[in-house]
Parts: sequence; C-alpha cells; structure tokens
Amino acid sequence: MNNEKKKDAINHPSYKETLNLLKTNFSMRANSIVREPELQKFWEKEGIDFSLGLENKGKIFTLHDGPPYANGALHMGHALNKVLKDIINKYQIMKGRKVRFVPGWDCHGLPIELKVLQTLGRKEREELTPIKLRKKAAAYAHKQIASQKDGFRRWGVWADWANPYLTLQKEYEAAQIRLFGEMALKGYIYRGLKPVHWSPSSRTALAEAELEYPEGHTSQSIYVSFSVVQIPSQLNELLSQQGLYLPLNEKELSVKLKVAVWTTTPWTLPANAAVAINENVEYVFARSQDNQFIILAADLLEEVNGEIGSSYEKVAVIKGRLLDGALYKHPLFERVCPFVIGGSYITTQSGTGIVHTAPGHGIDDFNTGIKYDLPVICPVDEKGIFTSDAGRFEGLNVLKDANNVIIKDLRESGNLLKEKPYIHKYPYDWRTKKETIFRATEQWFASVQGFRSDALDAINEVEWLPSSGKKRIKSMVSDRGDWCISRQRTWGVPIPVFYSKEGDEVLLNETTVSHIQDLIKKNGSDVWWELDESDLLPSSYSSEAHKWQKGTDTMDVWFDSGSSWAAVTSRNNDMNYPADLYLEGSDQHRGWFQSSLLTSVAASGHSPYLKVLTHGFALDENGRKMSKSLGNIVDPSVIINGGNNKKLEPALGADVLRLWVSSVDYSVDVPIGSNILRQLSDVYRKVRNTARYLLGNLHDFDPSQNSFQIQDLSILDRWMLNRTAEIIDEVSIAYENYEFSKFFQLLQSFCVVDLSNFYLDIAKDRLYVSAPSDNRRRSCQYVLSLIVESLSGIIAPVLCHMAEDIWHNIPYKLKEKSVFQRGFPKTPALWKDNSLNDVVHQLQELRASVNKALEDCRMRQELGSSLEASVRIQPSSDSLKDALRYMEKNGNPEVDRLFDWLIVSKVQIGGEPWAEVLFSEEDSMGIIEVSKARGLKCERCWHYEVDIGDNSTHKSLCSRCINTLGRLL
Ligand SMILES: [Zn+2]
Repeated sequence: MNNEKKKDAINHPSYKETLNLLKTNFSMRANSIVREPELQKFWEKEGIDFSLGLENKGKIFTLHDGPPYANGALHMGHALNKVLKDIINKYQIMKGRKVRFVPGWDCHGLPIELKVLQTLGRKEREELTPIKLRKKAAAYAHKQIASQKDGFRRWGVWADWANPYLTLQKEYEAAQIRLFGEMALKGYIYRGLKPVHWSPSSRTALAEAELEYPEGHTSQSIYVSFSVVQIPSQLNELLSQQGLYLPLNEKELSVKLKVAVWTTTPWTLPANAAVAINENVEYVFARSQDNQFIILAADLLEEVNGEIGSSYEKVAVIKGRLLDGALYKHPLFERVCPFVIGGSYITTQSGTGIVHTAPGHGIDDFNTGIKYDLPVICPVDEKGIFTSDAGRFEGLNVLKDANNVIIKDLRESGNLLKEKPYIHKYPYDWRTKKETIFRATEQWFASVQGFRSDALDAINEVEWLPSSGKKRIKSMVSDRGDWCISRQRTWGVPIPVFYSKEGDEVLLNETTVSHIQDLIKKNGSDVWWELDESDLLPSSYSSEAHKWQKGTDTMDVWFDSGSSWAAVTSRNNDMNYPADLYLEGSDQHRGWFQSSLLTSVAASGHSPYLKVLTHGFALDENGRKMSKSLGNIVDPSVIINGGNNKKLEPALGADVLRLWVSSVDYSVDVPIGSNILRQLSDVYRKVRNTARYLLGNLHDFDPSQNSFQIQDLSILDRWMLNRTAEIIDEVSIAYENYEFSKFFQLLQSFCVVDLSNFYLDIAKDRLYVSAPSDNRRRSCQYVLSLIVESLSGIIAPVLCHMAEDIWHNIPYKLKEKSVFQRGFPKTPALWKDNSLNDVVHQLQELRASVNKALEDCRMRQELGSSLEASVRIQPSSDSLKDALRYMEKNGNPEVDRLFDWLIVSKVQIGGEPWAEVLFSEEDSMGIIEVSKARGLKCERCWHYEVDIGDNSTHKSLCSRCINTLGRLL
C-alpha cells in the first residue's frame, strides 16, 4: 500500500500535498542512548526527579529502601528491585502523595573487609592497623556506591541521590548505637557463652544469612557405643518384668550394656556431656549373639543392625522417659555423663534415636544442656584447633585430622561400631566457601526470646504480599534462637562496651552509651579505635578509666541495616514510621525484613513497616541461575547501552529494561534473555509508533480553538473516550495493587486492539483526506489529543522516558512542562458512557466478519485494497439489527458511516442479493456478500466512485475530493 501511495505521489505530487500527512519530531527510533540522558537532565534541572514528590500536598507515602551491599557491579536483581520501587514511587508522586525516597547502602561487613585485605601486599598487611583498614574499607565502599548510584540513575530511578543513607555515615552509626543502647537498657542485650556458627577460615562468628549449604557435602559419620554404668531402679524393675536381668554392679554393667549413638562430627566427642533421648520414643534393649546388650530406638533396630553388620535381637522395650537419670562412661575421657531428655529434635528418622550431646557445639544441645545444667565444654580455638582442654587431642584441627585420630581411638577402645561416609547439608562460610563449625564463644546477643511474642503479634499486623510471606517469616521468628549480634571484625560499628581489666565486669549503661553516641555523631565510629578509654568514657568515669578495656567486637551487619528505620524513617518529618512499604527479594524474610522487625519491636513495640512486598530472582530464559561459568549473565548495562556486537545485543535503553520489570510475574523467579528482550522491544516499538501516530496528526491542532463538547462527538469518538477511561481506571488499579504485569497487558491491548486495529484504522480517512479544518477531522484530533495526554500519563511510571518524550512532542501548548507535573490521568465523568458498548461491540463483530470475507477474496487474488470492495449485509441477528438502527439514528453523519467503519467503498444493508459476488456467506450475524466496487478509484482518497471523470479539471478525483479541494483554495 505504501509503495502504491508513493507511486501516486510521484505521478501527482499536487494531490499528495492536499492530504494531511503526519508531522512530528517524535521519531520512530527511540535513540535512547542520547535521548534518555537528555530527559534525565531535564528532570534534574526542573527538580522533577526529587522535589516534585516532596512538594506534593497529599498524604505522605514512604517506601523505605532496603540497602544493597556496597560492593560489585549492578545486576538484574538490582534492576528488578530498584525499578519496581521506582514504578511505585512515580505512581504515588503522580497521584499527589508526598514522597521522599531516600536510597540506602549497606557499607560495613566482612566482604568489603576481605576485598580490602586482598588488595594489600604482605608488608602492608603486617603494618595494617584497625584504623588504616577502616579508612581503606570506607574509601572502597564510597567508590562502589558512586558507581552503583550512576547505574541506578541511568535506569531513570528517582531518589534523594544527593543525600542517601549509608550505614557508615556518622549520623546513621549514632542512631544505631542509640538503638543498641535502648535495647540494652530494656534488658534485651546480653553477653553469654554460646555455640555460634563459627568460621575457622575467617575466624569469626557468622549469622545464618552468611551460611551456604552446598550440595554433596560428605561427613565421616560414625556409630559409637558408650558403656552404661548405672540405670535407675524403676527402669531395672521394668526390665526384670520383661525378663531382662542386668547386673547391678557398675563394672559388670559397663561391660554388659552399651548405648548406641550416631554422629556426623566425631571431633565433637571430646565435648560430649550427655546423651539425649526423646521421652515419647520407644527404646529397645537388644541382645547380641555373645550376650551383650545395647540401647537404641526400637524403630531403628533393624536399620542399625544392617548398618553395623550385627544381629541384635529385641529383649525389652521401654518409653524414653524411663532412661532419664541413667549414666554412662565418656568414651574418650574418665568421666561419667547422664542420659537426659531432649526435645522434638530427636527423631527416629536416622541414627539411633539417641543423640550425642555437646552443648558447646550445637544449639539444640546447648538448650537441652541449660535444662540439665550441663557444662558448656568447648576445647576448640578460633582457628578450629583443639586446645589443651581436649587433652591428648590438643593441636589437632577439627576440620582436618581430628576425626581420624578420634575414630582410631574409639576403634582401639572397642567403642566404634561403624564408620561410614554420609552426604548431607552442612553449613559453609558464604565468603570463603569453607566448612563452618559450631563453637561456644563469648558473644553479644539480642534476646529474641525476650520479645518474640511481641514480634509475632507485629507480624500479624503487617500486610504481606504475597500472603505466603507471613507464614514464612512467622515460622522463622518462632523457631529462631537469640540473635548473635557480635562479630570479631574491624569494619563495622563497635559494640559500645568496656570490659574490666581484672574480673568479668562489663560496663554498659545509659551514660556510657549516650556519651559514645555523641562522640560517634560528631566523629564517626572510627573514634572508637582512635581514642583510648579515658576519652571514650564519660567524664564521670574518668577517674577509673584505667580499669576498663574497650571491646573489640563489631556489630552484625544485619543489625546495621536493621537499624535503618531508626536512622532514616523515624527521624524524618517527610517520612512515615512505620513505613508504608518495604520491598525486597523473598530471601529477606530471613534477612532485612526480620532484623528490622526485631529491632523495631524491641525498641518501639511495633513493626517498622505496614506492608511488605517481595520479589523473586532473575534467572536466564531457561530458568537457570545466572553464572559466569554458564555464560548466561544478562547485564542491565548491556541492555541499555548495547553489547560489543550491536546486532546481537542492540542498545535498547532503560525503558525496555523497565518494561521488562513491569511485564514479569515478580512474585516468583523471573526469566530474562535475548528472546524476551526482543519481544519486549517489539512491544516498546508498538507503543512508540502508536504515540507517534497520535502526535503526527496533531501538528495543526489547537485545543483552545478546536475543542468539542463530549456529547456532540460521534459514536466512534465517544466509545473511544469511554474505552480510554476504562483503561485509565484499570491501569490505576493495577498500579495500586502492584500488579504491573496487568499494566503491561492492558497497555498492549489498548495500543494494538483498541487504537491501531480499530479506532485509528477507521480514523485514517478522517485525518488524511478531509480538509484540515473539517469537523470530522478536528473532532478526531480532539480525541487524539485527549488520548495522547492520557497515554503518556498511564505509561509514565514504567516508560518514564518515553512518556516525557511524548509530552515534550505534543505540538500544542500545555500548562505543565512535564507529564509528571500533570499527574496521573483522571477519568472525566463525561467520558464514561457504557451505553455505547453493545452497539460498538456488534459493529466490531461485523467488522471482523467483513474483514474475514475480504481476506478470503484477497487470498484468491480477486481483490486488493479493501476499498476496492462493496459489501452487502443482510443482518439476521436482532442485536446487529439494533446496532445498525442505532447508528443510523444517532450516528454522526460524517463519521459514523458504516462504509468508513468497514473501510470499503460501499455498503448496502438488505435489499436484493447481488448478481456478481466474489464472496457470500451466512453466519450467526447474517449474510455477507462482497463484490467489486463499481466505478473508478479516486486518486486522492482511493475510494471507488462512479462519478470519477465527470469533472474536467480533476479527472481522476471523486466529487468528495473535488469538494474538499474547493474548500482548500
Ligand atoms: Zn476522493
């Protein structure tokens, strides 16, 4: 069609010039590499990217930013997270809410400390002081932040970029110290010896969040027997009743009766302090062929016989609680230990149903130990080496040679029943990728136990999206132990305590904390390392400063980021505390959502947020994790700027990245790859071309001159405005509910189905062929102007650059410089008129049937353009008859003409069947006949008319066009 048009234009340039052609600077190609940064500069210059939200008069809306770690290049996970937040903020700003979005960065912690250490030479390392390390770490973090910030801004994300919150800022650190002090004064902070996840490779305690459980870890598991030296008399009686008579003499008993345990960490046996049973499980006393007895869970007898290659036979069965109070001999050392009742963690899933208990090396063991006042034995140092407390095992590495030596000992003493490799989940250090151990150390704890029920209540008050998040965090908070908040590292906020140089006293009170808080507020937390005790202590303590030694522990980084509500939202008049929304990846139920909740509940008694929204992770197109080794990493900066090979990886711009974010079901993991990007850029182009078409038809339109009353518009126009209003409402609901993929679908169907394939298709004749000032053209332009303003508004939260670009290319005068200043489109009541929906729906169906018929003729090469056709319609359905009658009666005579709607040259309703038809078919709507239109093709409007040639000046034009030309002169 285009070619034909071109040919015509060459033959008769004068007629082409009489058509109203598209005119706009809004180009088909986005040229986003140049254009997007220009628009961002415009926002910055006009204060739209930050102060617009702040100047709004509406209610405060606070989305509190979870701080990304200040290390590494931005990846698709960052893009998903920050763009989702930005879509929400932009929408709220357009809705008139007062929005201050303060971006954050998490700056302390081991990964940065290790990065810095890696860059140092040996000599530098040796000369490294804590302060030197901290300065280097801070500089490193600032550099990372600057580069990440540039990336976020290039994505079009709006925020208070000039004043972000950084966990290394002195104000932030001071707020964190204050929060720690508040919790301490409430009795929620304590010091204790407790097994913690300990990484010998990085010599520090680790949080759960710092652990990984790689597949395929193999442990040296062993079945061991311990000699029983005493059993309670009540149990003895019961056994006699079942025919089992055991010697009462300790020595004889110890030879005769053993208890079987199973462990995957033989190196913890020196710390063994008890064996634990489940009081409700049934245990069996079983006899071997050589008349030896062994105790284990009844359900596991067969399995254990199989495992250790023995044939113990059941003699007596008793409930576990009867074993409470029995004693056994430690298998390695000269000491006697008790049988104790443990918790539900003791099952008959594996092992022997009797658990080797070492309170210094396990949390369940530790908790059971508290009930029985068992000693917390921990003969392992920070490097994972046995200390002198381990006796003859001193100097062995528990993760290397200790197991073999201990197993050899057990074999020689006859206590080893079986050694076997065992594959299971085992915690590794997330940084060094090396095995961790449980090790009892002096640590600082937040007593979750102390405010657990408040935390669970607070969880109930929060709206969790998706709702499964509630169950997830609830069970995590219910099951978790106290929170170990101390780390033996340098790059962090100090735990502000002093230890007595002699004795065990600890100095931590309101005066000391508030003094340190002031010092840090003024100087930053380096001051803890720069000053000595006499300056770090308040003046009231100066006389005894020599008695005290400042602590060297820093706080868990989860306590840093978990303090952000205290440092940011609760201290800012323009922000809400609790915040309206927290939005992060679903792994943060375990991390930031939880640490923030715990600190806020402990200090303020309520949650720091009203709503929590989570998103999944970015995967490749085949649903695999992105990794360097798989070579499937999608880099957001390559999406925006293109890759090395621009053919394979074209520069798509930030808006296509943003469109991707809007398109996915982010409640689960989301795929991204070149095919998906290709589809997205197609959608982007469709929207862009639709906008370009709208803009191109408005070059000579002036709303101050050419406005219309809505009720005077044609059926087609009023239907279109009603449809636009529906779309605005539906898109608005999608944004409100954070269902951005609905926006993505609505946008496509609006541009393609409603506009391109229907309204704009029919409107071509009005727009091109009419005289510029004809009512049928001006009224259409009026509708287009309303649509283009609405369209740019509804896409603005997602396609912010395109929306602003459209706004800047609207050729008539607008009150607002920016689409964002206009706000989210409103739906005027006059646009809403559902009464036309049935009529238009009928005519759309008819259009579909006619199009099918025309296509049929075209396939047989009996027809070219649809304007070559005449159509006869014999309606049979009542609804179609009603619709046609309605249009006849109420339609605008210049616009609501059936031949225009069907884009054919003639339409006849009813009448006699035609003689020469190309197509005839009857469907549920009625009969449709197609024949060649009579007459000749008008060179200007391409309609077939019988009056062509009548005029001697314009021999190739129809009378309508001649008429139009007359009005042009
Ligand atoms: Zn014509």
